[in-house]
Amino acid sequence: MYKAVILPYNYSALEPFIDAETMNIHYNKHYLTYLKNLNDEFKKQNQRLIPIKRLIYTIDNYSQIMRNNAGGFYNHSLFWKMLKPNKMNNSNLPTGEAKKLINRDFGNYDLFKKKIEEQSKKRFGSGWVWWIMMPNGKTKIIDTPYQDNPLMYFDCTILFGLDVWEHAYYLKYQADRLQYVSNIFKIINWDYINEQIKS
Ligand code: MN
Repeated sequence: MYKAVILPYNYSALEPFIDAETMNIHYNKHYLTYLKNLNDEFKKQNQRLIPIKRLIYTIDNYSQIMRNNAGGFYNHSLFWKMLKPNKMNNSNLPTGEAKKLINRDFGNYDLFKKKIEEQSKKRFGSGWVWWIMMPNGKTKIIDTPYQDNPLMYFDCTILFGLDVWEHAYYLKYQADRLQYVSNIFKIINWDYINEQIKS
């Protein structure tokens, strides 16, 4: 059975940017349901379990149900780790290699933010916005529909992923996806991103 990532902070830790109720429902209802459905589907089909990243890479060999739930499980497992509390409301600017890559590939941090905000606006309906590094080292912003993950399409390193499903923000932000996206920058875990760049 695939196992849930333990939330690395408590439900209220990301306030005021993400409220405790949203975090609780997001983790316990949405995330754990993707995980349960994925495990149920494996059992039903009597398939051999493979590492989750391998499953994501080879998802075209599996059913749509498997795709949605494997993606939902994997994407959120990454997402929890990509965020961190910021109770002091400091500016949380990028550090280290992440900062260098942002300046090199987007010009500066504000243009990087703007690009992510534009991509979030462009993503009609449910999906994710991603900052990824291609095998040649160049980084870019893309979006995927539903619970699709970039690795379902091509080889890359995932640096950051942003859940833009309504369930990620609706209780606090209602239809204001852009305000949610703008606030997320306050709680990006740059240390986590820098680890991905090195790996
Ligand atoms: Mn979600």
